[in-house]
Amino acid sequence: MIDMQGVYKTYPNGVTALNGIDVRIEQGEFVYVVGPSGAGKSTFIKMIFREEKPTKGTVIVNNHKLHDLKWKRVPYLRRNIGVVYQDFKLLPKMTVFENVAFALEVIEETPKVIRKRVMEVLDQVGLKNKARFIPDELSGGEQQRVAIARAIVNHPQLVIADEPTGNLDPETSWEIMKILEEINAAGTTILMATHSKEIVNTFKKRVIAIEDGLVVRDEHRGEYGYEI
Ligand code: ADP
Ligand code: ADP
Repeated sequence: MIDMQGVYKTYPNGVTALNGIDVRIEQGEFVYVVGPSGAGKSTFIKMIFREEKPTKGTVIVNNHKLHDLKWKRVPYLRRNIGVVYQDFKLLPKMTVFENVAFALEVIEETPKVIRKRVMEVLDQVGLKNKARFIPDELSGGEQQRVAIARAIVNHPQLVIADEPTGNLDPETSWEIMKILEEINAAGTTILMATHSKEIVNTFKKRVIAIEDGLVVRDEHRGEYGYEI
């Protein structure tokens, strides 16, 4: 589902973040992306939902050639990809329900379909009773669960999570991992950048390590492999 070959990325300021990446990820995999700060993990992830374009190389996601995808086609690609961020990125003035419903309103689902689907995903992340709350009224873990509900409401084939537990305490992080595992068990591919040694070494998955813009390790059921 993801096929990157010979991917280089140099930002306009001259910094080279990716230095020749070759990676293939199949539908249904759960993959951790690890490596030191500044290694290129976020840039790697941004290539996959076309937040950034490669300077050189090919990026194919769900049969879309992202390296030459027209800008106006990007929204169609993104409907099949859910993204979860470290800082949640919820809309602060909207309720939990509205934050999740937004993705469905964009594709013009009927109010009845939207209501049913939003309540279904809120139930899945354990927040059905908080649909009318606003993000400020929720704990960090609850806000991240709303972000996950928003990411999966469209039934994407791929969920990308950039340090989803980075702002959460260990116990809350386990809850988030449990939800991501359930989503993966239902067939969704998950790609997760993380700095959590505990998570990687506990929930064993494929580990791709990036250093200086290169894949330096790619292991089935791998270890975190760094001290912090
Ligand atoms: P990581 O996620 O592993 O910390 P990043 O992909 O964020 O790594 O960054 C890789 C390198 O690219 C770093 O040197 C960083 O400063 C640089 N970089 C990241 N984003 C940009 C940008 N938008 N413009 C210029 N340089 C960037
Ligand atoms: P292409 O559509 O040929 O793949 P680009 O995606 O780089 O090329 O850009 C096409 C147009 O979309 C450009 O005019 C550019 O200004 C605009 N564009 C590119 N990236 C963004 C962005 N992140 N936000 C808003 N507009 C953008």
